[in-house]
Amino acid sequence: MSIRLRLTVLYSIILALTLIAFSILLYVILSGQTLTLMAGTLADEAKRLLDRKVIDTQIFVYDNQGYRVGRIVLPASTFAAPQTYVQTISATGQVTSRSVNLVDKEVFLSLSEEGKETIFSTGQPWFERANIQGRPLLIYTKPVFVEGNGLIGAVQVARSLDDYVQSQNALRQILIIGSSVATVIAFGIGWMLAGIALRPIDRITHTAQAIGAERDFGRRVSYIGPHDEIGRLTMTFNEMLTELQSVYRQEAQALQAQRRFVADASHELRTPLTTIRGNIALLQREPPISNEDRVAVLSDMAGESERMSRLVNDLLMLARADTGRPLRSEAVAIKPLIEDVCRKVKVVAPQHNIDCADLQDVTVRGDEDAIKQVLLILLDNARKFTPARGRITVSLMEQPEQVAIQVRDTGIGIDPAVLPHIFERFYRGDSSRTGGGAGLGLSIAQTLVKNQQGTIAVESTPGEGSVFTITLPKIEVLPRTGEPVATLSAQGR
Ligand code: ADP
Repeated sequence: MSIRLRLTVLYSIILALTLIAFSILLYVILSGQTLTLMAGTLADEAKRLLDRKVIDTQIFVYDNQGYRVGRIVLPASTFAAPQTYVQTISATGQVTSRSVNLVDKEVFLSLSEEGKETIFSTGQPWFERANIQGRPLLIYTKPVFVEGNGLIGAVQVARSLDDYVQSQNALRQILIIGSSVATVIAFGIGWMLAGIALRPIDRITHTAQAIGAERDFGRRVSYIGPHDEIGRLTMTFNEMLTELQSVYRQEAQALQAQRRFVADASHELRTPLTTIRGNIALLQREPPISNEDRVAVLSDMAGESERMSRLVNDLLMLARADTGRPLRSEAVAIKPLIEDVCRKVKVVAPQHNIDCADLQDVTVRGDEDAIKQVLLILLDNARKFTPARGRITVSLMEQPEQVAIQVRDTGIGIDPAVLPHIFERFYRGDSSRTGGGAGLGLSIAQTLVKNQQGTIAVESTPGEGSVFTITLPKIEVLPRTGEPVATLSAQGR
């Protein structure tokens, strides 16, 4: 059973039960009140008859055995109200007189044994309902006392309950039909309202189905209404879709990047392999090639093998950095590290003017090997893209929470159109074709710096040179102990 039907049925049952309880209460109260009113009227009537002495009570009367008994009679001529029946009975329960309408119909008013008991032993009046000749009557019996003689009999006043029964029947019918109609109408309205209230859930279901079928996470459930349970559900569902959409997009981008990476890597590896295979074919040629050519071919093969092993090394490093393998996070004195790297680069670039003097003593938090690797990449690029006798400067800048390391060169600079792409994998600027790199250096540097909660940025003017700036989290060194203590954490933590 659907929630809509369940809700509607539940509410309708509750309404029906409420209406039934209300109808029964109303019916019982109204019936009771009407009967009480009629009983009051009958009691008044009996009192009036006795007060006005309409009923003749004779005290000194003897019965046929000589006992003195009270007598009570109703002069037939004096009483003939059509709707009210009057009858008198003696203290022994004998009917002594009846009103004309009773005589005409040849009817006696009844008095149950219980009634007789109540009247003659306790002297209390008595009400009872009776069916006489198929007609319902309410009979009031009031004992009659005569001063000095006690109970001499009772007067009975009765009225037909026809009108009462009819009105009760009508009331019962109204209540039954009214309650049934109200329940049916309430069911219809409830069904409609439940439908309106649950419509957003229907829309959510359809949207979810459509997303499942089309994989379109851009869809949203439209909802205009209060911020109630349904409103919150719709909002949460839409928020979840936004999250899914972004995750799905990221996944798609990552997958695409991975595919591109694999394609680029294969392409990069194919070139040296093709060259080596060609050279091997040359070496196997019959008749053999000249000694001079053989030396050239071998040197070519050695160069290509070296290029290939550099590329494989780079790929390995990038793959390791990508797996998110945690780098060490320890205090690194940056000045000696830079000086060490500079020394190494100076050996391979004697024709460049490399300046690593004027460095402060600062400590950063990171991985010593990774920082060295990044500096080697930046200095190698600076060397590659700066003509001989050009200047390469490494400097340090202390910031409140970071240390900035700058590698500045006076080389060819980077075209503004190329600049946004230089950190992409396998990206090489046109002018770098002669550099021999595979376009992986800067992406490795960026990944390593990011993994140390640092940043890397570049500024460049074509023809004038480039400045690469790395920031790494700084560590304050306590002067007393000289031990590096991590007091300031890096951005992104
Ligand atoms: P590679 O490993 O081939 O050097 P990188 O990722 O290190 O690749 O560099 C990508 C591109 O960025 C280079 O091909 C070059 O065009 C540009 N580039 C990097 N550093 C510099 C620099 N110091 N001066 C000019 N261009 C640079």
